[in-house]
Amino acid sequence: MKVESQLKERSGTSCELCGNNNGLSVFPVEPSDGTADKCILICENCSSQINNPGTEDTNHWRCLNESMWSEIPAVKVMAWRMLTRLRSHGWSQDLLDMMFMDDETLAWAQSGKDDGAVTDDKIVHIDSNGSVLQNGDTVVLIKDLDVKGATFTAKRGTSVRNINLVWDNAGQIEGRVNGQQIVILTKYVKKAG
Ligand SMILES: [Zn+2]
Repeated sequence: MKVESQLKERSGTSCELCGNNNGLSVFPVEPSDGTADKCILICENCSSQINNPGTEDTNHWRCLNESMWSEIPAVKVMAWRMLTRLRSHGWSQDLLDMMFMDDETLAWAQSGKDDGAVTDDKIVHIDSNGSVLQNGDTVVLIKDLDVKGATFTAKRGTSVRNINLVWDNAGQIEGRVNGQQIVILTKYVKKAG
């Protein structure tokens, strides 16, 4: 049976991310071997937004609230990648925090490039000392920072664990301070350790 027919059967002929059925096509979840296990069926709308970073309609992607619980690893992987892309919105970070994936699926999600990730101009995040920052790093604030929209000051010396790089802005990272997800400028942090 062709992959497309297998996917149609698996999904009930609807987009495995948002449930729509316009312009369905097979989308390989990289690194993909082209089998149904490594592909998902998605609609025109999802596919165009996945392939054109920056055009994401955040309301549309609320659909991930459901598809992230799919029992199909390929669907979870794609949901994780899109939530990661949209993580600057509080709701998607919250969903990511709730999401459960076994080690194998998580490794798949993190490997292979998200087709929407910036690949042409690779963005590198550098701290105040010139060290390269990665997702998951711990950083220390090197000055007191007023947090926009919050009522507290993030104090110099505060450790921020498990940072996320803002994918389209080399000057910004995100992390939790006082239980709140905030954007921090890379020039005001140094990598811990
Ligand atoms: Zn869709």
